Formats: sequence, C-alpha cells, structure tokens
Amino acid sequence: MKKIIVCKECFVSDHIKLYIEHNVEDSTEKCVICRKNNGVDVFKNDRLLKMIEYLVYYNYAMLDYSKNIGGAISNRFRNIFGEANPIFNGILNDNRGFELLERIEANQISDVDHWMLPFKEVKSPILKRMEKDLSKRNYYEIIKVYIEIFEKHLNKFILNEIPDETLFRARIGFNTKIVNAEGDLKNIKISFPFINDELEAPPPMKSSCGRFNRLGCSFLYLASDIETAIAEIKPDPGQICSVASFKIVEKKSSLI
Ligand SMILES: [Zn+2]
Repeated sequence: MKKIIVCKECFVSDHIKLYIEHNVEDSTEKCVICRKNNGVDVFKNDRLLKMIEYLVYYNYAMLDYSKNIGGAISNRFRNIFGEANPIFNGILNDNRGFELLERIEANQISDVDHWMLPFKEVKSPILKRMEKDLSKRNYYEIIKVYIEIFEKHLNKFILNEIPDETLFRARIGFNTKIVNAEGDLKNIKISFPFINDELEAPPPMKSSCGRFNRLGCSFLYLASDIETAIAEIKPDPGQICSVASFKIVEKKSSLI
C-alpha cells in the first residue's frame, strides 16, 4: 500500500494544519518533506486528500495536474509538487509526486476555461453574466434573479463550520463614571469596559461597508480569539480596548 507521510507543519494551508491537529492521529513515521516531525499518511485520509485536490484545482490548470483529459494526453503534465508549490512547504520527489497526482482526478464539472487556467483565474459563466449586467444596471434591478440562482447552489458550497466556541469583538475605548458614595469613595472616577449593546453590531446608520455588508447595513463581525479581535480594530500603542465575548445560540445558513 502506497503512503505519503507529511507533518502538519509542511502544509501551507492553515485550514489543513488545524484539521490535522484536531482530527488526525500522527503516524509514528517521519515526514517525507522536513524529515523532522512525525506526520500523517495522506493516502489514509480521504478528507485530507479532498482538501489537497481542491487546492490543486484552485492553483493549477487541468492540463498541469491531469495527463489524460478526454482521451488527449497533456504535454504540460508534470510533477507539480517537485518544485516550489502552494500546497506543501517543500517538495515531493517524482515518485511520490506522481503517486499523489494519480489520486487527483480531472475536475469533470469544471468550465472549459479550467483546462488552461487554475480556478483562481477562471470566472464562472454566472459571474461573467453578472458583471455584464452590473455594467449596465443597478444591483437592485438584478439582485432577485441572482439570489435565486445562488440559492439553488447553496447546498453545494463548502462553508466553514463555525465552531461552538466563544467568539470575541473589541472596541477602542471604555466607560468612565464619577462615583459619589460615602466616605473615601466621594467623587472618585472609575473606569469600566463598554458593555451590552455598546459592544454589539454598530447602528445601521453608522455602519461603514465591510467584507460582507454594504454601507448602512449593520453586521456583527466576530473573531475566534481575543488577540485577533483586538488586532482587527488596530489600536495605537497604549490605547485601552473593551472586549466582549459571545456565545452562538442558533446557527443559520443564508445568503447575505
Ligand atoms: Zn514536515
């Protein structure tokens, strides 16, 4: 049985690194790329193989990774893992590289453009049509048609699963209040973090456009850890931030 042992550090994708960390047992054998860490057998894990396959589709034209397309033998076919590549932090020699490529099937559902271009450079026919429509009409005139098209395909999308963990949002600043209690606490200024709706999504009228929302639409953006939440708001050195944690109570799948 053929095997290719690779450690998580020798994958470029953080998504794959995390997947291996949480889901796959290391074998007792050394990684064939760095020869330092114990790795996982790529051939023993179908999900890992699929992730590699999708990265190949995304980064390479079909003629590069599949030698036999519709009966025609590609003369561009080569060991794409035998040189610097976007999937591994290192190279796989020809034997191993070709063994892995043999497991990667030509993408049958792909656009003809993908024969010559990696998916990252191919535009789908729907996207091309949408660009043409948007060059002549306002988005609200065509949005209904495209929402219907996308909804038909929604179950085919691979969505990142949101973990059941705590998520975070940060805001620069905090509250202060003058306390007027008896004794030593007279006229004392106390500071405390923003709370409740002060740390929820901004009001629609104050929302600037973001990665998922247009101007004037209020979306709540959360980070998976405190450091990322703070980094996202880019505070200056010395600035104090308030951070809130959130728990997911219900998951929904919908088009934005
Ligand atoms: Zn390694």
